[in-house]
Amino acid sequence: MERDLAELMTNLCEEEYANPNSMHSFGVKQARRLEEARERVARCLSVDPREIFFTSCATETINWILRSSVFFRGKRKKIVTTSIEHKAVLNTLRDLKTISNIEYHAVSPESDGIVSVDKLLNEVDDETFLVSVMAANNVTGAIQPYEEIGKALREKDVLYHVDAVQTIGKIPFNLQKGLCDYASFSAHKFHGPKGVGIAFVKRGSPIKPFITGGGQERGMRAGTQNVPGALVTSIAMQRAIEDMETSSRRLRYLQKEIVESVKALGGAVNTPDDSISNTVNASFAGIRSEVLVNALSEEGVYLGTSSACSSRSDGGQYVLDEMGVDPSLASCSIRISMSRFTTEEDVAILIEKLKKTVPLLKF
Ligand code: PLP
Repeated sequence: MERDLAELMTNLCEEEYANPNSMHSFGVKQARRLEEARERVARCLSVDPREIFFTSCATETINWILRSSVFFRGKRKKIVTTSIEHKAVLNTLRDLKTISNIEYHAVSPESDGIVSVDKLLNEVDDETFLVSVMAANNVTGAIQPYEEIGKALREKDVLYHVDAVQTIGKIPFNLQKGLCDYASFSAHKFHGPKGVGIAFVKRGSPIKPFITGGGQERGMRAGTQNVPGALVTSIAMQRAIEDMETSSRRLRYLQKEIVESVKALGGAVNTPDDSISNTVNASFAGIRSEVLVNALSEEGVYLGTSSACSSRSDGGQYVLDEMGVDPSLASCSIRISMSRFTTEEDVAILIEKLKKTVPLLKF
């Protein structure tokens, strides 16, 4: 998080501690702050503020949307998704399959990590009530054809959720043209605080309250709202989007440098060419991910073996498996992530440490 935003957050916690649901003027000020945050997020996404809800993380948003859709399915039984979704989607669907009488079909990607539009649409039939697709994959950075899928679904009576967690500040994400019914976002992916998620719910699309209680978030998600978190998130989102063109051009250049260095060291690159510009997924045959990640960590370079949010369970290797990457390479994969604050110097250090560490671990 940027220093001024961290300071703003601290200040809001220290000085503006009133409950936004209180009737007194101190509370009303907090309610106004919350609405200011909602309006800023809505402007960033070109939607109506009434379509924006604050949650605690993208996993919560995803749970809400998927579980709610089951309530409105009528007699239909099927959800179509991809096999490379984040576990927030895949494990929720697995749970829904056991507790509700539904089934889901997860379409595998092609070898470049991108799902075929035709293959996915072929699965959408009269039984389908929801399609859930990620905009960009968190393990490889591969951008998915979520816009094309959205266009095709417009003619069908099917709800559409886009996991847009990896989009903000990385690729333009435009909800203006009615792309989807629902979208999910996470503040810490664009230098906002941890513990804030956002749900976009298109006006008119069916939605059921997720957390019942005091009626906050227009009755959809009860519980006292995290005003400092929401406000700082909205500013971080605006900054990430405003800076996107400049930062992604710069990151694209750094990404190419990393890719070339990985190849020069005999590594394989698992990220396709037109991916989001901050991610490089690579494998060095014979060096298991955790060994390389630990060795680089000793050198002050912190990489992921996959997606940071699930790497303590079974990581993101399933994504590479689904792409058909050889298991011996998949188990050696590392995820190099940059942010808009990553400098050329940071990348030079990374490359230097890779050059030092990889040959040592190979022998
Ligand atoms: N979806 C994607 C694509 C992600 O990358 C992540 C986390 O990295 C999530 C969902 C879950 O987000 P959160 O950690 O806010 O629950």
